[in-house]
Amino acid sequence: MTLRSRAGARRSLALAGLLLLGACSAAEKPEPSEAGSATARPSILLVTLDTTRADAIGPEARGIETPAFDALAARGREFRQAYATVPETLPSHSSMMTGLYPAGHGVHENSRYLPRNRPVLAERLRDAGYRTAAFVSSFVLARRFGLARGFDVYDDELLPGHVERTARDTTDRALAYLGRQPPQPLLLWVHYFDPHAPYAPPEPFRSRYAKAPYLGEVAAMDEQLGRLVHAFEERVGGPRAILVVGDHGEGLGDHGESQHGNLVYQATMHVPLVLVGPGVARGVSDSPVSIRRVFHTVLDWAGLGGVDSLRAEGPEVVLGEAMKPFLSYGWQPQVMAVEGPRKAILAGRLEVYDVVADPEETRDLAPGADLSQQTRTALRDYPVPSLEAQGPPDNLGEEERRKLASLGYVSAGASPVVRKDAPRPTDMRRLFDLLDTASTLFVQEQYGRVIPLLERILAEDPHNLDAALRLATAHSMLGHERAALAAFGKAANIVPGSQDVRTYLALHYVRGRQWEKAAPLLEQIVAEAPDRLPALEGLAQVREGQGRLEEALALRQRIYGVRAPTAAELVRLGQMAMSVEKTPLAIEAFEKARGLQGSAFEHDLELGVLYLAARRLAEARDALDRVPASHPGYAMALFKRAQVSVLLNEPDQAARIEAARRRADATTHELIARERLFRQTP
Ligand SMILES: [Zn+2]
Repeated sequence: MTLRSRAGARRSLALAGLLLLGACSAAEKPEPSEAGSATARPSILLVTLDTTRADAIGPEARGIETPAFDALAARGREFRQAYATVPETLPSHSSMMTGLYPAGHGVHENSRYLPRNRPVLAERLRDAGYRTAAFVSSFVLARRFGLARGFDVYDDELLPGHVERTARDTTDRALAYLGRQPPQPLLLWVHYFDPHAPYAPPEPFRSRYAKAPYLGEVAAMDEQLGRLVHAFEERVGGPRAILVVGDHGEGLGDHGESQHGNLVYQATMHVPLVLVGPGVARGVSDSPVSIRRVFHTVLDWAGLGGVDSLRAEGPEVVLGEAMKPFLSYGWQPQVMAVEGPRKAILAGRLEVYDVVADPEETRDLAPGADLSQQTRTALRDYPVPSLEAQGPPDNLGEEERRKLASLGYVSAGASPVVRKDAPRPTDMRRLFDLLDTASTLFVQEQYGRVIPLLERILAEDPHNLDAALRLATAHSMLGHERAALAAFGKAANIVPGSQDVRTYLALHYVRGRQWEKAAPLLEQIVAEAPDRLPALEGLAQVREGQGRLEEALALRQRIYGVRAPTAAELVRLGQMAMSVEKTPLAIEAFEKARGLQGSAFEHDLELGVLYLAARRLAEARDALDRVPASHPGYAMALFKRAQVSVLLNEPDQAARIEAARRRADATTHELIARERLFRQTP
């Protein structure tokens, strides 16, 4: 009740602000055909374009044609000063799904996870009666990273050995879903990954953009965007709304950065954004806006609150950050604030640019620039995350946090530990390519090749935690025990207490089956961060190794609540559950494995035995009948099948007992001799 009235009060304040500022001029009328009925809630298509620079798509883009995006821009509202919150996929999408800056949602880098206690967009809409479906194209957004919450369908399936899929494949999947005519209203989120490196566009774009393969990828993606929008508008009835947005850009050499993640210049922070739908004034907006407002805009369309919706632009100081170089390499934290045409970057020292007159950010205005008090405060109080990462941050929302900070009650975040001599990321550009190459080799598990590169990085940048940890892990994977421990020791010296260092050291002990050394480390990490998969998986292995199977089972169940298990993992889970006589759990695991594997499933014997134990006789009969004669446990299958036959009182039970006797091996011979069920039969 209080919450609702407060939100109402905020909305009227925001409205009053808008009227005063005249942000929505009377001349700009919403597109009538899309305004729909005043009451029906629209179905919403959200498309996120990975790694797409603002200047690489849309009517203003040079050297490329993107007709699908251009058509949306012509029908709707294009925001020409939209900004990512982070130049990395997972943190940026986490902002769109929660409406929060990273300080609020806790995800500053890829391969972390969105804590469960952060409310997400899909949950809100599903609770309000929407159907929700997501189709993502990269492992970076796989279910395990926490964005699947609230989606009825979360399609993150990739071919084995692949870490991404093409916009064409993802669109095919989304169109198949739309072809089944899902009930409405619908929230459909589609994520495209094509422009991400390496750049290998399909034909005809490969030839057409032979000299600019990155643009070729964007053009190929745009073609699929066109297919998707067409299908959405054709197959989804009722009012509709569409929002297309970039998650971050790509360096392409600007400021010495080839890809993204290390710097906060326009190449990677400035992104495309277009809205088409009810209540959206057609035209172009030059107000700086944050993509975190995707969250509020979708809520607004769904009738769930309009604060911060992009349908009503008010002036805002747009914030952004790139903390990976700080968290992973120990360099200066980087924060940016954009207000009007002014962009200020704080990373050790201040830089200021006029991004309208100087979009390439070549003329630093910092010495004489007069920044607003709001911008200065935002930069100064921006909550820098802790290097030790003692679990996810507290429960304060970004708004509450900033409110408290502006009242002077608390400092906005934990006081960051930044080394006195920490370099500025922009001064370290000579290492960017080496870091990217090392990262790629490491992920490809080419440990022998990556070791000399990591040693070179550490020679130039001795406090680089990421390089020290990877060096330790590479040695560990190659069985270099002494070198691994030396490198872990070095990493622990760089950031004492680091959760990452403890995690990877524990996994080193797990690899060496040193359960007693691994266990206490992993117990502590799991207590600090209950959804941290590598720690959960390490601890499950430790418990299995120690013979503590019930605990191992409970951990496995937790793990599979965070990410989907493979068929092989389900089989292993079923076998473990069977060995501690947890029959219902074992049945469930084997059934799921069979569902995934189909005719390749080889565990019908176990499943038959379990069904028999659960007195599910018809299912036991069917499972045992599927065991082939070539199966090494075929004698056991015949014995169990004969038992089932007697219990079901089948007419051929005598013949089945006879068959079991004839094919008996040492084990079943004994069992058959003692089996009481077989004694009463003629
Ligand atoms: Zn991305």
